[in-house]
Formats: sequence, C-alpha cells, structure tokens
Amino acid sequence: MASEEVLRADAVVIGSGAGGAPVAARLAEAGLDVVVLEAGERFSSADFTGRAGNLLPRLMRASVAADSGMEVYAGRGLGGSTLVNDALCWRPPPDVLAGWREEHGLGGLTEAAFAPFVDAVWRDVHAAPTGPENLNRNARQLALGAARLGWAGEAMPRNVRGCANLGLCNLGCPTNAKQSMLLTYLPRAKNAGARIRTGVRAERVETAAGAVRSVRARGPAGRLRVEAPLVCLAAGVLETPALLLRSGLETGVGRDLQLHSSLHVTARFPEPVHGYYGPTMAYAVSEFSDVNGRSGPGFMIENVSTAPVTTAGALPGFGPEHARMMGLLPHLARSLVVLRDRTRGRVDLDGDGEARIHYEPVAEDLARLRLGLAAIARAYFAAGASEVWLPVNGMAPLTGEADLATVDDVPLDPRAFSLLYAVHLFGGASMSGRGDGFCDEAGRARGVQGLHVVDASSLPGNTGVNPQVTIMANALRIADAVLAARGATA
Ligand SMILES: Cc1cc2nc3c(=O)[nH]c(=O)nc-3n(C[C@H](O)[C@H](O)[C@H](O)COP(=O)(O)OP(=O)(O)OC[C@H]3O[C@@H](n4cnc5c(N)ncnc54)[C@H](O)[C@@H]3O)c2cc1C
Ligand code: SF4
Repeated sequence: MASEEVLRADAVVIGSGAGGAPVAARLAEAGLDVVVLEAGERFSSADFTGRAGNLLPRLMRASVAADSGMEVYAGRGLGGSTLVNDALCWRPPPDVLAGWREEHGLGGLTEAAFAPFVDAVWRDVHAAPTGPENLNRNARQLALGAARLGWAGEAMPRNVRGCANLGLCNLGCPTNAKQSMLLTYLPRAKNAGARIRTGVRAERVETAAGAVRSVRARGPAGRLRVEAPLVCLAAGVLETPALLLRSGLETGVGRDLQLHSSLHVTARFPEPVHGYYGPTMAYAVSEFSDVNGRSGPGFMIENVSTAPVTTAGALPGFGPEHARMMGLLPHLARSLVVLRDRTRGRVDLDGDGEARIHYEPVAEDLARLRLGLAAIARAYFAAGASEVWLPVNGMAPLTGEADLATVDDVPLDPRAFSLLYAVHLFGGASMSGRGDGFCDEAGRARGVQGLHVVDASSLPGNTGVNPQVTIMANALRIADAVLAARGATA
C-alpha cells in the first residue's frame, strides 16, 4: 500500500485566494501552527510572460453549466483568483449588508461591524484611487459616453502599486504592481510560520463525533493527511461545496449559487483606442446599479481590455466577418455588463465526484442583461463610435442610434449569446442566522465543530460590485471570531 505523509497542525486552510490567504495570515500571526493546501501552482512574476496560450490553462479554470451554457471562470494557483483578477476594489455596499441582515437573519453583519475589516483589507492590499495615468483610451471612451449622457460613473480604486499599464492583469502581473494574495497576505502567513503546500488538492474532510479531525489530500509526492482541530474551507465557490459533498456533508450545501452574469459589447471608433494597453479594467458606470443607494435595474457597466485572445473569444460570428472585426482591433473599445443576478443555481457532483454547476438564468435577468447591452451601445454612440457589436449570434452590427431599437429583439435565451459568463461567484455553503444555511454568521459549520467556511461560498448572495474586498474582509471577520472562540475556550 502506498505510504501517506501525515502532518499535524492547529489549523488547515484549504485554498489560498481572497478567502484563504487573509485567514492563513491572521491565524498564523496569532500564533497558530497553520498548514495551507493549495491545488494550483506556485507562480512568481517571472512566470507571468503574458503568453495567454501557456498561462491561461494553468491560471484559470473554466466550467460550463450544462443547462444554459453559462461559462464560469475561477483562478487557480497560489493566490487563487486574485492572481488573475482586474484589481478592482469596492467596499461592501451598505444596502447589500442590510439585505443579508433582513433576508438571512445575519444581524451582526452591520456596516459598523464590517468597517474595521474592510479598512484593514484596504490598507493591506494597497487599494487606492485610479489616477488619470492609469485610465487608458478604452476606459475614457466609456467615461466620455457616460458623461455626455449625464450618467453617474467613476474610476474604480485598484489594489496596485506603480502599475506600468501593461494590460496583462488577467495573466498575472509581470511587474508585481498588482497586490494579489501572492504579495500581501501569503508572505505574511509564511513569515508567521505557516507551511504552504502547492499542487496539493484536498479531497475530503474527515469528521468524527461531530468534530473535524483531518483533511485528506493528494499532492505531487502522493497522499497527504493533515490532522487538525480547525479546518477553514476556502477552495472557491465551486470547489468548497464539492469538497463538502465528497466528505458526506450535504445539509445546506451546493444550493443558492449566485453570480454576476456578464456580456461584452465591442465598439469601433474612427481613432485608435489601443484598449489592450493599460489596466484591463478601470472605469465603471454606476447609473443602473441597485446598490450603494441606487435603485436602477441592477447592473454596472465596466470597461474591459481588448486583449486579442479574449476579444476574439467574445465577439460573435465566424470566418471573414470575425476576421474583419479582429482586423480593426486597435480601434476597438469594449465594456461589459456586470449584472446583479436574481437567479439562484446550484453545485453538485458529477459521476467522477467533481463539481458540476447548474445555472439557468431567469427571464428577468436576461431582460436586464438586454437593457445593459442597449445602455453600453448608447454610451458608445454618444462617445462617437461608428459600429457596435453586441455578443449575439447572427446579429448585424449596430451602425447608429437608430439601430438601438433592434436590441429589443435580442432573444431572452442564454444560448443566443456568443459568450455569457461570470467571474464573480457567491454561495454554495452560505451563512444564515436562521438555521437553514450550511454555516452560521461566524462561518461555523452547523453540527461539525472546528469546520469553517471562509471564502465566497459563505456569502449569502451577490454584492452588486466587484467582490474581492468583501470576501477578504469577511474572511478576516471569521478569523477573528475563530480566535475569539479559542480564547474563550483556552
Ligand atoms: C478573471 C477574473 C477577474 C476578476 N476581477 C475582479 C476584480 O477586479 N475585483 C474583484 O473584486 N473581484 C474580481 N474577481 C473576483 C475575485 O477575484 C473572486 O471573487 C475572489 O478571488 C474569490 O475568492 P475565493 O477565496 O472564494 O476563491 P479563489 O480566490 O478563487 O481561491 C480559491 C483557491 O482554492 C484553490 N482550490 C480549489 N480547490 C481546491 C482543493 N480541493 N484543494 C486545495 N485548493 C483548492 C484554487 O486553486 C484557488 O487558488 C475576478 C475573478 C476572475 C476570475
Ligand atoms: S496593467 Fe498594471 S496591474 Fe495590470 S498587469 Fe500590467 S502592471 Fe500589473
């Protein structure tokens, strides 16, 4: 029989992204002996060559909902999705927290209770306003259209230091400007003594007599078992529920998956835009949002890079027409709708015990996405675009404001789009104060002592803004609750 390595620790953290890394740092700095298990590779800035063909499959995991074709992307590697994200930072909207208090009985999630953790994250990841030197022409075309229409919008804060405008944020930052977990909380965890194992995939959590006992994992050197009285789950919204289901923990697991659905709109301008240089994202139109005091239909519009591979993948059509559009790349600007979905999906296991996603957008969400497409097209025409392509299979380009009426004909069918996708994922093992979620307000699994959910799976719904700061702040909040409980029982 193959041998198995056995480690003993005070705490195991599974996953090293926005949820896992802050918890590992906080627990290790409080003196706990922490082991971090991360399934992905350990990268450094030298690996981030910008070669999409080599890096995308190693840095990103893609999943498709079989029912709708919705594509879901998550990062993998030490640092999780923060390695590949766009560095945009938003504080948790107070009205979202109010909704969680009212709908899910999470009375402690007040703005005041969250604020110290949000402030700590803001400082720790160096979130800062985005200045004009980091607003490329892609961002400016959206800002111009919004300004001419009188819409609310702003440059978004980013967690970067000395951004060199290379436009490679989604492939890992080659200059270490982006302050991902790899450069912030993970070095802190390591300096405080945490043992960080990469290429090690946790397969199941073992429990006995109502308490967590160990984590079974598999790595490059074979089987690994980590015995610890405390396990913090942070494997992301698809893998945390899958790990729980593989461990035989099913109550409240896999349900209430929520997303921010996204669609891209691409516009051609007479003058060059060069939207592949500069931050991949930087400017947001908040006019149509339903958070932070707004009462719109519930979507943000954010500019997004025209990097060749992702632009080619999102544009509709094939053959000569697709080649014509790509030939215009230097003149293209691009933005996306970031919808605060009302749909609820779920995660379960396929026949091989791997995560499987079910997500069929409700008609109301599809109708709101359609409003978003029309809004972006309107903004681009206001900014002077000569052509606008919606991500709708078979649809002719819009050539002026008069064509906006045709957006009403876009079918309310997820399969009509060339790319309908999400990178903001929520839920699957969520908190509830009413006893119906997998965990309670402190991220504690109900009925299993020592098991905590600390990543985006613990959030009871979507945030309506880019979520990394909320996820990190929530993770720090849960880590403090864990430490307080240990203090109380020590
Ligand atoms: C392309 C992209 C762009 C984004 N842009 C932004 C942005 O600009 N601003 C923003 O606020 N948010 C952004 N996000 C979202 C944000 O980064 C995520 O919401 C956040 O990182 C999720 O945190 P998490 O801890 O739940 O999961 P992740 O950060 O995804 O971390 C999960 C980690 O667990 C590891 N793992 C999975 N299974 C196992 C296992 N069985 N054993 C061990 N390890 C495992 C994974 O490899 C991964 O490293 C973006 C996301 C993506 C993908
Ligand atoms: S645009 Fe800035 S943050 Fe993004 S990869 Fe380049 S240097 Fe890093």
